[in-house]
Amino acid sequence: MKGFIHSYETCGAVDGPGVRFVVFTQGCPLRCKYCHNPDTWAPNKGQETTSEDLISKIERYKVFMNNTGGGLTVSGGEPLMQAEFVADLFKKAKEQNLHTALDTSGVSSPDRVKSVLEHTDLLLLDVKSTDPNMYKTLTGATIDYFHRILDLAEEKNVEIWLRLVVVPGFTDTLDEIEKINAIKRKYSNISKVELLPFHKMGEFKWAELGLKYELADTMEPELEVMNTLNNALSE
Ligand code: SF4
Repeated sequence: MKGFIHSYETCGAVDGPGVRFVVFTQGCPLRCKYCHNPDTWAPNKGQETTSEDLISKIERYKVFMNNTGGGLTVSGGEPLMQAEFVADLFKKAKEQNLHTALDTSGVSSPDRVKSVLEHTDLLLLDVKSTDPNMYKTLTGATIDYFHRILDLAEEKNVEIWLRLVVVPGFTDTLDEIEKINAIKRKYSNISKVELLPFHKMGEFKWAELGLKYELADTMEPELEVMNTLNNALSE
């Protein structure tokens, strides 16, 4: 099946357990202020590929991935924009006995979400913010999709890691952490929460695309703040 990807990396270590083959799909409906991959936004750009071709590449790393408890991660962009392609890729990966992880914001229709979750072992779910207004401010989208994918993943008993980018002045509050703790209490399939410090490594891409980077004056969070927030996360 045909799909459009931005790129892939063969030895990812941060997007799921173990060593990961990470595919970054092209296309995203969100416009996160801190996005470090704005070059993935436009759909039907990037490299055209097929799930068959990708699987044959991934297979070469299979022993390495399986020995480290790793597998295939699909990230983006927003992978659910090409749900059919990702579902097919994951289905083929499962046939090869590979662990599959989906890195997503959840912004898509329920049918598309379900079709991919069917073949997903781990959901790396971006929180963005637990506050509906802040979510909208940061991403331009409604928070409803986030709540819906939580329910759909629970129905299918898919393990979830929640991930929050800590952006000073936006999501660096204890209130945000308390709300995340409450979500974790509600869903027994959430096994981990990761706090990722905001960084500006993608700022130059905004400039290259002629886009205004609104967080140019925002600093990375202090280590002390990260420690405080991490300590406030419930076990
Ligand atoms: S969801 Fe990801 S790729 Fe899309 S705008 Fe936000 S950070 Fe960028």
